[in-house]
Amino acid sequence: MSDVEHSLNSTRRVSTNYDDFDQQHLWHPYTTLPPTYPNIVIDHADGVYLYSKDGGPLLDGMSSWWAAIHGYNHPQLNAAISTQLGKMAHVMFGGLTHQPAIDLGKKILQLAPAAMDAIFYADSGSIAVEVALKMALQYQLSQHKPNKNKIATTRSGYYGDTWHAMSICDPVTGMHSIYGKQLPIQLFTDMPPLGYQQALPASVSEQLKTFFANNHTSMAAFIIEPIVQGAGGMRFYNPDYLKLLRQLCHEFDVLLIADEIATGFGRTGRMFACEHADISPDIMTVGKALTGGYMTFAATLCTRKVAKSIANSDYPALMHGPTFMGNPLACAVSNASLELIVANNYPTRAREIELILQHHLTELLDHTLVNDVRCLGAIGVIELHDAVDMSLFQPLLIDNKVWVRPFGKLVYIMPPLIMTDDELELLCSRLKTVLNQYFSYQ
Ligand SMILES: *Cc1c(COP(=O)(O)O)cnc(C)c1O
Repeated sequence: MSDVEHSLNSTRRVSTNYDDFDQQHLWHPYTTLPPTYPNIVIDHADGVYLYSKDGGPLLDGMSSWWAAIHGYNHPQLNAAISTQLGKMAHVMFGGLTHQPAIDLGKKILQLAPAAMDAIFYADSGSIAVEVALKMALQYQLSQHKPNKNKIATTRSGYYGDTWHAMSICDPVTGMHSIYGKQLPIQLFTDMPPLGYQQALPASVSEQLKTFFANNHTSMAAFIIEPIVQGAGGMRFYNPDYLKLLRQLCHEFDVLLIADEIATGFGRTGRMFACEHADISPDIMTVGKALTGGYMTFAATLCTRKVAKSIANSDYPALMHGPTFMGNPLACAVSNASLELIVANNYPTRAREIELILQHHLTELLDHTLVNDVRCLGAIGVIELHDAVDMSLFQPLLIDNKVWVRPFGKLVYIMPPLIMTDDELELLCSRLKTVLNQYFSYQ
């Protein structure tokens, strides 16, 4: 029996770590039913550890997809939800309002780029993106420019899984191959060149200018994930690209939508990634870390100009209104989350984490199976030459007591921002062990 088979068998033997019902009946993100490898049952989570049913604590390198920046079972976040629960779990936001929503709005506007002035609370990131697109279309209608009705973006983006969000995801690595013919046609330009430090080549600037010159009459908005393209490829790009985009949007009367759902609240070493380029978008989406990973919640922000123009139009109401809009529990926990982010200066901590990740992960570049290693803020990316075989990789993670979730060729970590230096070192060393074991089977 090979080591890998042994490892697979030994993890399968730990039967309570996996659940038959789950395998047969529950879909998980982007997977087949039943899955090609089992999902690990997590019993509880605390601090930076996930406790599987009997596999012991797994050190968390994912923050549950950018969200759990304060780790798990945080006393202040727990208290915020419990206190709010004693008052009301939910009331409709149509015609009613409440203090947690008001307090949160004030906090978000204090932190957000200066021009942000109006907020729509959405129930998930994808919905926040849908609302951003509706805002952009309604704005252009209000400006009597009905032909500006398409959304422009770059390749390699990721904006969520709902219909229009999906239509602006990367047309090749996204879901276009399945739904392509049914998706609305959007305008795509090349992805920004890779590399935060890489100065913007003149050819790229020219190309982007030409793209705007050719398409602006049909462009309502240009949407982009500032500085970090997340699920579309974990790519970092130079702030000058964003600066140029801001200029061109001004020049051609196109709204700039910054999707900060992944990057917002400190992850990249700035409170919002837009700050790397010192720009303010017209519309901005936030989510994921907003609640500290406690609940599904997001928001779409826009400038006074956008809000006012929509209000003064033939269609003055913004046409969206989820049942659980402005949920008080979500607002309360978000308030506590933002307080922690400010009190503990997370953007600064993310920059310290960057140095630690850089220091420990760079040596992986020596490996022939590794194509690239890059770090920005509290994000560390190891890009392999080939897609990761998860049925081999996942058992190795459990054996080494670490949790990361590669996709495609990308093995990446974005640890909770509360992680100590020692824990970060442990995370990197466990991940390196997993990778070295994985490579030894290739
Ligand atoms: C995760 C993500 C979304 C979608 O958010 P959901 O809450 O999963 O719907 C949108 N944009 C970006 C940049 C994201 O990272």
